[in-house]
Amino acid sequence: MSHTLSSNLGYPRIGENREWKKALEAFWSGKVEELAFNKQIEQIRLDNLKLQQAKGVDLIPVGDFSLYDHMLDTATMFGLVPKRFPYEGGVVPLSTYYAMARGSQGATACEMTKWFNTNYHYIVPELNEAKPTLTVNKPLEAYREAKEKLGIDGKPVIIGLYTFLKLSKGYKSDQIDALIEELLPLYTQILAELEQEGATYVQIDEPIFVQSLAKSDISRIQHIYATLAKAAPNLKLILQTYFDSVEHYEDLIQLPVHGIGLDFVHGLEANLKQIQSYGFPSDKVLAAGIIDGRNIWQADLTQKLDLLHMISSFVSNDRLLIQPSSSLLHVPVSTRKEVKLEPILLDALAFAEQKLDEITLITKAINVGKTSVAAELASNQKVLSALNTSAYRNKRNVQEATANIASLPAARNSSFTARRGIQEAKWQLPFLPTTTIGSFPQTIEVRNARKNWRNGQWTPEQYEQFIQEQIGHWIALQEELGLDVLVHGEFERTDMVEFFGEKLVGFAFTSNGWVQSYGSRCVKPPIIFGDVEFVEAMTVKETAYAQSLTQKPVKGMLTGPITILNWSFVRSDITREQVAYQIALALREEVEALEQAGIEMIQVDEPALREGLPLKKQDWQAYLDWSVLAFRLSTATVRDTTQIHTHMCYCEFHDIIDSIRALDADVISIETSRSHGELIHSFEEHTYDQGIGLGVYDIHSPRVPSVEEMVEMIERALQVLEPELFWINPDCGLKTRSKEETIASLRVMVEAAKLFRERKLAAIQ
Ligand code: GLN
Ligand code: ZN
Repeated sequence: MSHTLSSNLGYPRIGENREWKKALEAFWSGKVEELAFNKQIEQIRLDNLKLQQAKGVDLIPVGDFSLYDHMLDTATMFGLVPKRFPYEGGVVPLSTYYAMARGSQGATACEMTKWFNTNYHYIVPELNEAKPTLTVNKPLEAYREAKEKLGIDGKPVIIGLYTFLKLSKGYKSDQIDALIEELLPLYTQILAELEQEGATYVQIDEPIFVQSLAKSDISRIQHIYATLAKAAPNLKLILQTYFDSVEHYEDLIQLPVHGIGLDFVHGLEANLKQIQSYGFPSDKVLAAGIIDGRNIWQADLTQKLDLLHMISSFVSNDRLLIQPSSSLLHVPVSTRKEVKLEPILLDALAFAEQKLDEITLITKAINVGKTSVAAELASNQKVLSALNTSAYRNKRNVQEATANIASLPAARNSSFTARRGIQEAKWQLPFLPTTTIGSFPQTIEVRNARKNWRNGQWTPEQYEQFIQEQIGHWIALQEELGLDVLVHGEFERTDMVEFFGEKLVGFAFTSNGWVQSYGSRCVKPPIIFGDVEFVEAMTVKETAYAQSLTQKPVKGMLTGPITILNWSFVRSDITREQVAYQIALALREEVEALEQAGIEMIQVDEPALREGLPLKKQDWQAYLDWSVLAFRLSTATVRDTTQIHTHMCYCEFHDIIDSIRALDADVISIETSRSHGELIHSFEEHTYDQGIGLGVYDIHSPRVPSVEEMVEMIERALQVLEPELFWINPDCGLKTRSKEETIASLRVMVEAAKLFRERKLAAIQ
């Protein structure tokens, strides 16, 4: 009798101890030869598969592993190598592959961008440079390897044609049909060869199907899948979507594939509603993504079984696959190494490895009956309720405050127009004031100091003394350079979220909870597990010390509530909106403490505001509204004379400009230098009439720009923005730059500002 199968969509590549990262970096630095590197990598890949095999997962993905990124894998498989890289056809050499990812002498790297709404970044394929050909059948190789080495009948994973096309660049919309015809034979060949090899399943990832699709998209998609189905009639193709509910459900479920994968975590309500309204075809398999592939919490297994029970009135059990909502790439590898976390938290966590257990357990519950896993279900209930009922999640004062959010002050006393005059009178800043975004170079010296302090070699006093020296040194430097609004330099912070997380209640930090962000770079996001609460001032000491050294204003520097939220793993028992308000209220206390300590310019950074936008446009406004409210809750209670700044690291600005304006910051600084023309152009249509600083040079490059370049940028900006509201600053924090570059560039920047002041003076006289 056939029964429900368990399945996985993708597994973290990085290895339990980030072996993958280490292998890549050793290879890049020339410490390891290609042959040895390939061996190391093969070991990691096979270990990942073995683990899934040992867990008893029925459908194990193969080909999801990568030497850098799966979009780059697909592009190079199709020989899509831009002309600036060395390539003579055939299989793309590893050196070229990495040159595309990382750049090389004389050839800039391919663009990298966020994979949907995750913190994973992929390499953007360039379609205008080469004609696609199938240089190697990577899914086939992966399938063979798993079969031969481990006896696994794996499920090859490929990026679907439509998603691949939509995420690529270098073509115009009228070329889409031609490109589809070029790519289709490659896809059909891949599938035909897999079928011939004896593969059973193939997972075709089409996450683009959760974003708005037009009618014209649908007919293309129908054509693509009709062709693919014909090419490999015996393969069980699973059309996999994730990260939200699918659009055009009725059309998609009619596609000639064996199964449809839906996300029942992030698109739960809408996907469920579509099944309830339109049913599910009785000849298809439903791949039900019920375990969260994006978060780190144990699932409520009883609730998941209830959900499956509901689904079972539309799909019979033998047509059901139990799986994570997306690839497990987005969660850390295993909780086994977390020895420092409190048991009540640790017990409630599930990283990739533990999620596989959840998947097989649920599958067993369906196949054998709930009673066969009664003990596990009971212990699952117990750990979840222990955390939920713990004091961490039941802070009465925090919950009362967020329950009454509407009654809390979220608007400044006076309008910006009124504040503007008041602040001009108070601050007496020159025309085109100059400032920086907050951080100064985190030199080896600074990092070593922190290490010494963390491992106890230095006393806290020694460390504090060191930080003060750095602050003193840079305050003197800023004065000497002639900057108008100074900063303390953020020397005491490794990371702008971690720093605040460590000082607020409600956050925890793993020892090994790494997740791939791009290439070999991994991040270890904080966990917001309890009610967030302010304990004591977090930034006042350093900022007030800096202010004590100078007559010029020192700008306080905080990370905003939405950025803290978006760069953390967040508890899922309450809404993100609620968590955002909790953080906002904690930050408000910090803002007030700074103001009380005489810091009357305060910058609240929100570089991650934009990246939190939901995938579907229709959900944007709700997110923006609560985000704006959170920002305002943290900044609104200051005096009219106190100047609130904010900073954002991107330039796509126009489509959310109303919300940016609604933040009601006195001054915003944004990153622009890498797409200056575009941004300034957008200000022609959308006026911005509060203080604004457009980054006048690119801090991501070590190059020191010339005065002429900066002057030109400022001139163009001043044509569309009100000069009296314009600020001059670099486009982001300077922590990654060297000291010499920083000083040289800032000197040029101040010089450019002086030039404009002289011009203005001359015009008046
Ligand atoms: N204040 C922060 C810094 O200067 C801002 C960083 C950011 O925008 N990512 O480093
Ligand atoms: Zn920035």
